[in-house]
Amino acid sequence: MDLLPVPPASIPTPYRTEDRTAIRDLARDFAMREVLPVANELDPVQGEIPLELRRAMGEMGFFGILIPEEYGGLGLGLFEYCLVTEELARAWMSCASIIARGNGLGGGFSQDQRRRLLPLMAKGELLGAFALSEPDAGSDVASIRCRAELQGDEYVINGQKMWCTFADQANFIVLVARTTPYDPANRYSGIRNFFIPKEPGSFPAGISGNPVRKIGYHGWKTWELSFDDFRLPAENLLGRQAEGDDRAGFRNVTRGLSVARVHTAARSIGLARAGLEDAVAYAQQRRQFDRPISDFQAIRFKIASMAAEIEACRALMYQVAADADAGVAVDAQASMVKYLASEMSERVTSEALQIHGGAGYTTDFAVERHWRDARLTKIFEGTSEIQLRIISDRLLPRPG
Ligand SMILES: Cc1cc2nc3c(=O)[nH]c(=O)nc-3n(C[C@H](O)[C@H](O)[C@H](O)COP(=O)(O)OP(=O)(O)OC[C@H]3O[C@@H](n4cnc5c(N)ncnc54)[C@H](O)[C@@H]3O)c2cc1C
Repeated sequence: MDLLPVPPASIPTPYRTEDRTAIRDLARDFAMREVLPVANELDPVQGEIPLELRRAMGEMGFFGILIPEEYGGLGLGLFEYCLVTEELARAWMSCASIIARGNGLGGGFSQDQRRRLLPLMAKGELLGAFALSEPDAGSDVASIRCRAELQGDEYVINGQKMWCTFADQANFIVLVARTTPYDPANRYSGIRNFFIPKEPGSFPAGISGNPVRKIGYHGWKTWELSFDDFRLPAENLLGRQAEGDDRAGFRNVTRGLSVARVHTAARSIGLARAGLEDAVAYAQQRRQFDRPISDFQAIRFKIASMAAEIEACRALMYQVAADADAGVAVDAQASMVKYLASEMSERVTSEALQIHGGAGYTTDFAVERHWRDARLTKIFEGTSEIQLRIISDRLLPRPG
């Protein structure tokens, strides 16, 4: 008997176009052929995403999905970005994440920077890292303390950054720092974004770092960075903030987070689908009590409920992405889909591991990677608790 395909055979009617179906199918084929075997080999030894794989992703156009065609990108929307992201995350979340280092970091660029840098980013030849979080500023991003003081025509930067993924291999770092001291009465002002060019494989003088010992999200390193009198030409202050809009730097950060949250929902859904597909295959192959474990209703119902949860989150993701592409403000909806999809992803990958029994608790099967990586989706790009805070602030007066 032929089994039904686990993911929906087609994109739902209101959103379906031939181009979208073709992009999704291309990404699916690429992920399963080029990414999955590399992930299965390198993740258990904490290896890094190979340069050849990054180049192949660049040739597919994955780093420039959101970059306008006039700058060498595909000029597509959040919808297509999510389609590709889900497929890459089904194979290796780190590859679904690294595409944001081209697609997602041009927000504050000036016209000149867009013209010079975006074509290289679209090809994956110039990729960035994002340094926002600090040891004492995680969920409360407006409390960052890293200082950038203007001295003549240079900024002198001092402070600590935490969790800066890809900082070592990136061609540039977008740094979020303060040009005025932290003022609890005016916490959003004085936050600025800076463009720090660098060579892959090293840090410029004045910046040093140590990799964080993570339990997953392998394929690239995540860094704790120290800025000690790091000097940066003043022209590297990003974008319109130079014109004196005091809150533009903070707005730039939060605007980027909304896209990042829908992108994270797509990563969560891809991981959950990986868990489901692996569980469906394993349940039919593993025999106990003289029959495949897929005959037991306990296992069948787990699989049914996993599939239903994925389908529901994907439907919401399609809707939020389509709304965002139509110009609707989706901040709260982005938080909702990020929250629901990441919580779902951890539940579903954990159930997938359970269906594997003891085998699931080994590194011989990829399901443990899906579970470890799904765990992270509830933490980064704003924790689940912070998403609930954003949503509830839309529904209730803010507490004093
Ligand atoms: C692997 C990894 C990669 C990352 N990559 C990057 C990166 O590239 N660049 C970058 O800038 N950052 C990055 N981050 C940082 C990430 O965004 C933060 O870890 C996240 O925002 C949470 O901040 P925190 O870890 O300081 O937790 P905290 O803010 O200290 O939170 C601790 C707990 O308190 C809860 N909490 C906090 N405030 C509230 C509140 N008001 N109401 C209810 N609960 C609350 C949180 O939900 C959480 O459960 C990365 C993190 C990880 C783990």
